[in-house]
Amino acid sequence: MSKISENSIYIYNSLKGEKELFKAVSAPNLGIYVCGPTVYSNVHLGNCRTFLSFDMVVRYFKFLGYKVRYVRNITDAGHLVDDAEEGEDKIAKKARLEQLEPMEIVQQYTVDFHNVMRQFNALPPSIEPTATGHIVEQIEMIQEIIDKGLAYESNGSVYFDVRKYITEGGAYGELSGRNIDELQQGTRTLDGQSEKKDNVDFALWKKASPEHIMHWPSPWSIGFPGWHLECSVMGTKYLGKQFDIHGGGMDLKFPHHECEIAQGKAANDVAPVNYWMHGNMLTLNGQRMSKSTGNTLLPEELFSGNNNLLDKAFSPTVVRFFMLQAHYRSILDFSNDALLASEKGYKKLMIAFDILQKTEFKATVLNQELDTEINQLCDKCYTEMNDDFNTPKTIAVLFDLVTKINIFQESKTFGSIAPETFTKLKETFCGMISDVFGLESEAEGNSEVLDSSLNLLLEMRQNAKQERNFELADEIRNKLTAIGVQIKDGKDGTTYSL
Ligand code: AMP
Ligand code: ZN
Repeated sequence: MSKISENSIYIYNSLKGEKELFKAVSAPNLGIYVCGPTVYSNVHLGNCRTFLSFDMVVRYFKFLGYKVRYVRNITDAGHLVDDAEEGEDKIAKKARLEQLEPMEIVQQYTVDFHNVMRQFNALPPSIEPTATGHIVEQIEMIQEIIDKGLAYESNGSVYFDVRKYITEGGAYGELSGRNIDELQQGTRTLDGQSEKKDNVDFALWKKASPEHIMHWPSPWSIGFPGWHLECSVMGTKYLGKQFDIHGGGMDLKFPHHECEIAQGKAANDVAPVNYWMHGNMLTLNGQRMSKSTGNTLLPEELFSGNNNLLDKAFSPTVVRFFMLQAHYRSILDFSNDALLASEKGYKKLMIAFDILQKTEFKATVLNQELDTEINQLCDKCYTEMNDDFNTPKTIAVLFDLVTKINIFQESKTFGSIAPETFTKLKETFCGMISDVFGLESEAEGNSEVLDSSLNLLLEMRQNAKQERNFELADEIRNKLTAIGVQIKDGKDGTTYSL
């Protein structure tokens, strides 16, 4: 039996508000769409948490044998400041402030995003489409919705007709639980909203004002697509009219995902997504980490130790482990103590990982009790992961396995368990850590050698400086920087970070 058929996965479907047995549209193929970043600034650790949660989900499905098509877009147009219906494009605003081309902003922050994801050992998506690369398809979908009578043109802009959609049976609010009448009362009438029939209607296309520099021709006006449309279009194009999983942070439920459902149903007559998954927020000092409030910590500030919040630098893999220690639907608060505890736990886990990797199997007398316990613990890893990707509980089981693995450390063989149990242990323990959680071994031995080598180079640089051989000192620093080692000269000496 394949691992797919052996494992029934239950996913908390935000649309239903409960866990549901997962059934892929066409197993072993699986389609997942995750809303990617709006590339107008560096991604912060909050954004990273959401992307790493879905990286774990994708990894687990792959580990079980699914053929995953993972689509994660780059929003490079259409997302307006304050997530509003009116105003400036986030990217255009940044370009104006920095006196750059919008596409220079897009390039710079897309590269930063990719670098950060690589440092976290996140798998790249199978397809990474951009909003600006799909303007034609967005215009086509708008036309389809107009043809269905569910959108209308007004003064060169096109709006989704929410009331009409509801009259025809559409359940606007089904994901977010928002009530249309309350929404209407709560919506301020801003400039330009008078073009709408109803102020709950949302934009599919906006006519560009003269100062709006990111614009394209369309049948209705020179303008730009509404923010919610790109994900409907790219999801449909690459995964089909109805696909398996759509993910994103909780803050995207409304209006973004609510509107995606309405657009998909209006254009294609089917619910676009079978399972909606939403990750919870990363907080800092109890407040949501957010670009707009400035309550953020950047990955680079964390990896280099260059920040005022934490006592020391933490490696990407420790941060990844820290995030996995919370369930993706729980709030997680970032703190020095929590990271220190994770670092300790992570090292303990990786020592056992290395023992298991290096030790050979040589049969001795079978310890049936231990054999049974190990088998049960291995099965439990899957049970916990199958329960809506419960990573904290899976990690707790892995620590129970660490205790068992340490029993073998002295005898230097795993011979007191059956050979099949040894294989299962290795496959489960190492597979969960490496393939599913994406944790990389910073084996004690390796990191000690690395540390000693780098300190040796720093010492040589110090000697060169003392001998006033600044050329050599600079060469050592520049070459180390080029390979990703940052050097920091402080009053207590020189330190490095990777
Ligand atoms: P954005 O670039 O603002 O569109 O956000 C990219 C992703 O990061 C979205 O899925 C957001 O829901 C998510 N996100 C933003 N802030 C946080 C946070 N503090 N914790 C977790 N995810 C977040
Ligand atoms: Zn989206």
